Amino acid sequence: MTTTTTLPLIDDLYLPAAAVDPTLKGIERMAAEARLLETRAGVAYFEIDCRSALNRCANPQLPFTWTLNPYRGCEFGCKYCYARYTHEYMGMTDGRDFERKIYVKRDMPARFAEELDRHKDQGLPIALGTSTDPYQPAEKRYRVTREVLAVLLRHRGLDFSITTKSALITRDLDLLRLLNLRHRLRIHISLITVNPTLARRLEPRASTPARRLKAVKALSDSGLKVGVFIAPILPGLTDHSLGLERLISRAVESGAGSIGANLLFLMPSARKQLFPTLAEDFPELLARYQQLYNRSAYVSGEHKEKIMKLVERLRKKYGLIRRERPSPPPSLFNTGQASFQFAVA
Ligand code: SF4
Repeated sequence: MTTTTTLPLIDDLYLPAAAVDPTLKGIERMAAEARLLETRAGVAYFEIDCRSALNRCANPQLPFTWTLNPYRGCEFGCKYCYARYTHEYMGMTDGRDFERKIYVKRDMPARFAEELDRHKDQGLPIALGTSTDPYQPAEKRYRVTREVLAVLLRHRGLDFSITTKSALITRDLDLLRLLNLRHRLRIHISLITVNPTLARRLEPRASTPARRLKAVKALSDSGLKVGVFIAPILPGLTDHSLGLERLISRAVESGAGSIGANLLFLMPSARKQLFPTLAEDFPELLARYQQLYNRSAYVSGEHKEKIMKLVERLRKKYGLIRRERPSPPPSLFNTGQASFQFAVA
């Protein structure tokens, strides 16, 4: 049975916690307790309490057990982002709210420290940035991700990964180098195309492809394990063999040691953003998308097989040896858009 949560829009929620209805529970309470921190360039930042930093991931096929997401919502505003549904779940049905109302979990580092001290993680893999980007613009100011990394410095021997579409990650090279000595650290830069115009249209405020590749190089030159996730591959837009080859060759040249790839997973909340973009800029593709995603948020069958074979051929061509991993539904991993079919050099 589906339950619909009806919440007031966050515009109506600039209330001190004391005014919050004490009978509210769970996500309703969290939304009502949000405290406005500031607004900048049309984006409002809210502080929310983080009751638990580490969230258990239920799918045993995924290469991590725990997830950490310092922010709810993401200013990068990728048209295809599956995580948009999380704002809808909080009663914000205008898709733009996901990009303009950002919730900051400022106390996450403290919660994370407590949880690691209690050994809540049990030494199992932790992934940072599985729902929203940990290096989105809010991080420049609030530095929650950086503080989370600082907490990890007090520990050793953990399995930790980070996924981002932002070159801001290089700000933390000092901490990442140290973490690499203490933990099993992997970094994934998510990149769907090297065409800057296409990237700007689909991922309006994420770092440009050139800046992301530069970040791959900086991370790799610092001795860190860094891979590129082509996530998602969009039918008719980024699945052309020449475009994929250009991307993979540039990633490998920049020092990427692995390439992940997965086809677009299109949730209804993302469809509401992507389809108008297609209608405006790529009208010839709209009918194809409507047909491909008619029954499901996934693409399967012949089309999927063809694209994944192409990626595999390119991996081999660029010296990446396939390491088999299960390929679970991307619905369970960011950035709407990561994958677990990847290869290492
Ligand atoms: S896909 Fe990732 S970077 Fe893009 S809006 Fe979603 S969370 Fe942000």
